[in-house]
Amino acid sequence: MTVTAMSGGKGFLADVWNRINPALGFLSPGDSDLVRRALAAPTMSMKFQIPVTRDDGSVTFYQGFRVQVRPIRPTKGGIRWHPAVNEDMVTALALEMAEKVAVVDLPYGGGKGGITVDPKTLQPGEKERLARGFVRRLRDLIGPDQDVPAPDVGTGPQEMDWMANEDMILRGEWRPAVITGKSVARGGILGRDDATARGGFYLLRHDLQQGGIPIEGVRVAIQGFGNAGTHFARLAVEAGMKVVAISDSTGSVLNADGLDVPEMIRLKREGRLPYTCEDTKASLTADAQVIVPAAFEGQITPEVASQIQAKYSVELANGPTVAEADEILLRQGVRVYPDILANAGGVTVSYFEWLQGRSGEDWEVDRVHEALERRILRSFDDILEIARQRDCNLRMAAHVLAARRIAERLRGLYPKG
Ligand code: NAD
Repeated sequence: MTVTAMSGGKGFLADVWNRINPALGFLSPGDSDLVRRALAAPTMSMKFQIPVTRDDGSVTFYQGFRVQVRPIRPTKGGIRWHPAVNEDMVTALALEMAEKVAVVDLPYGGGKGGITVDPKTLQPGEKERLARGFVRRLRDLIGPDQDVPAPDVGTGPQEMDWMANEDMILRGEWRPAVITGKSVARGGILGRDDATARGGFYLLRHDLQQGGIPIEGVRVAIQGFGNAGTHFARLAVEAGMKVVAISDSTGSVLNADGLDVPEMIRLKREGRLPYTCEDTKASLTADAQVIVPAAFEGQITPEVASQIQAKYSVELANGPTVAEADEILLRQGVRVYPDILANAGGVTVSYFEWLQGRSGEDWEVDRVHEALERRILRSFDDILEIARQRDCNLRMAAHVLAARRIAERLRGLYPKG
């Protein structure tokens, strides 16, 4: 996975708190104080150098990070390899994970890791040494009951396989539940590849059905045609929807009659998408009923929001809508399925992989899909109920649900400070 641009730093961390803080107002003063104090700072934040011998014999030192924002152990969260990675970005992402795992009620705290590196500059052997070096630095901090890493932007099954293998070498035992997102041949789970898109898709399909809206022919536009976006496009057409626009970092392809999605996926892989315009946000403002922001954060600005024609937005990307734009979407009557629920399919199936690793029992793909759908829709029902009771939007309700679950896990364990 690679993402070409990315914000980071203090602004991102402040944005995450700006979404959490209003939700805490819906809790009792005691619970609100408890959650705020528990999430205020990481329980563990580690910064370290990883020396890597390059293929030409020189040595490069890479900056690595791992952050845990608990309320509970083990913490769970991906490892991002990207040039913009820094301590504040990793902290913000760990905080988001703490909320996301609470929304889907997984028995985890939030974690995140990263390395400041452009993986495109590394040869395969260099990537392997970097992945193994990362695990050596964290050897006493990760574990099935401690902290469980997974892939994020810039990493995938191959990196997870190297990391799990390095853990085995260091400890002299195979611990499949130490890392998720591994390849299926090395202890990964079936259905992990499209889990993020599938979670968002189940949500949309269910909500349309509940609203009495026929699925057939629903017009969908997708920004970001990578892992999350391509799988969503495939699931949408398989269900009879029409994908009328896609965008990637180069431009957009629009076709009101519906795109041939398998062909687009093939052309994307070959770097030959037949762009109809250079605007990478054209999909967001296209004539569609559903938009799927699946690129990266901060894409839906107030200017974009005021041009959006769709009535549904499925946030597969993390933080794609800026706060001011959210208000505009609300006024325009757009139903936004918020990121901490809509893209939680990935971590949910990672949880199943962790369970599989602990039990030694293989999960069949149908079981993965059914369990994912059940869990996502159960949380969605809880969110709808909060939104109804509190008369708030789905994003606020999702954050209230997360805060409530975190409070439940903490209440009575710590003295008042
Ligand atoms: P990816 O790198 O596979 O795909 C990203 C896509 O976005 C690429 O097609 C890229 O060309 C496109 N893109 C980049 N800049 C763009 C721009 N300016 N305009 C339009 N498109 C642009 O990444 P991914 O794994 O699909 O992740 C996408 C988003 O989903 C990220 O925000 C990620 O954090 C989030 N997410 C992904 C997963 C997962 O399991 N893959 C899980 C949770 C959240």
